[in-house]
Amino acid sequence: MATATIIDGVSLANAVKDDLFRRVEVIGGRVSLDAVLIGDDQGSMLYAKNQAKACEKVGIEYTLHQLPETAPHVQVEELILRLNNDPKVTAIMVQMPLPKGVRADDIQSLIAPYKDVEGVNPANIGNIVFGRRSLVPCTALAVMEMIESTGIEIKGARAVCVGASTIVGKPVAVLLMQAQATVISTNEYTTNHDELTLGADILISAAGVPNLIRSKMVKTGAVVIDVGINRVEDEHGKKRTVGDVDFDGVKEVAGFITPVPGGVGPMTVAMLLRNTVQAAELNKLPRT
Ligand code: NAD
Repeated sequence: MATATIIDGVSLANAVKDDLFRRVEVIGGRVSLDAVLIGDDQGSMLYAKNQAKACEKVGIEYTLHQLPETAPHVQVEELILRLNNDPKVTAIMVQMPLPKGVRADDIQSLIAPYKDVEGVNPANIGNIVFGRRSLVPCTALAVMEMIESTGIEIKGARAVCVGASTIVGKPVAVLLMQAQATVISTNEYTTNHDELTLGADILISAAGVPNLIRSKMVKTGAVVIDVGINRVEDEHGKKRTVGDVDFDGVKEVAGFITPVPGGVGPMTVAMLLRNTVQAAELNKLPRT
């Protein structure tokens, strides 16, 4: 039997970035992303460094606003309000995790929806449900782009979305519903996963559990999108990154599959850049 076609996140992301480079030129003025980092979490610092590089490549100006670990909630709020009110700032994102004492939900809700390029303000999530123009969470957008890249018809397809977090699983399920798929959303309490996933033309896993999706759970020819990012140790104690899907087994059954690394991750960064450019374009329109 033929093995699955690999959906290459790196080359898809590069194509998006080439297009963005042109869109930034068309906008003409300054396109920027203002990121907020509180504390010195190593993962967040590395993420910020990578964002700066990615922005530079497409002509987006990146500014990092750093506050100390001890910054009180009100100081973070003041910074967000200042960025919201600054007409030169068109895109805002806040690096997670936030230190104890800073309430992430409240901070995310405070970001002006039209500058919220990670789509974390509930207004943006709500707009997806209404099918209105909105800044959609980047990973959910990446998943949709990767499904669409296969050319399969989403309308009428059966989709199973494993994992239902607010920032990944739920928006993916809603976007698939908007695209007229028949959608099942599962979570850690779902009892009959194998039965449900076996019926899926499109299977997305965003649970954060290595080896959760095995070949016997996958329909022949299905599109399998692996959102999971898990650090595991091999038998020699060497650390590596894997997804939720048993890639070697599932690629023998699926029609299309995303690898980890090199799948949803790079596309998520590309979608952050695309949302940033979209926010700059929206900012040029009159707001009512
Ligand atoms: P989360 O912990 O907020 O949510 C996990 C969801 O999976 C929950 O709904 C939970 O009920 C469900 N779940 C947990 N164990 C399960 C099981 N055994 N079976 C079925 N469902 C189960 O996580 P998240 O923030 O949505 O992230 C999920 C994964 O995606 C993580 O590995 C994370 O690192 C990764 N992630 C990747 C990207 C990317 O750019 N590739 C972006 C965001 C998150």
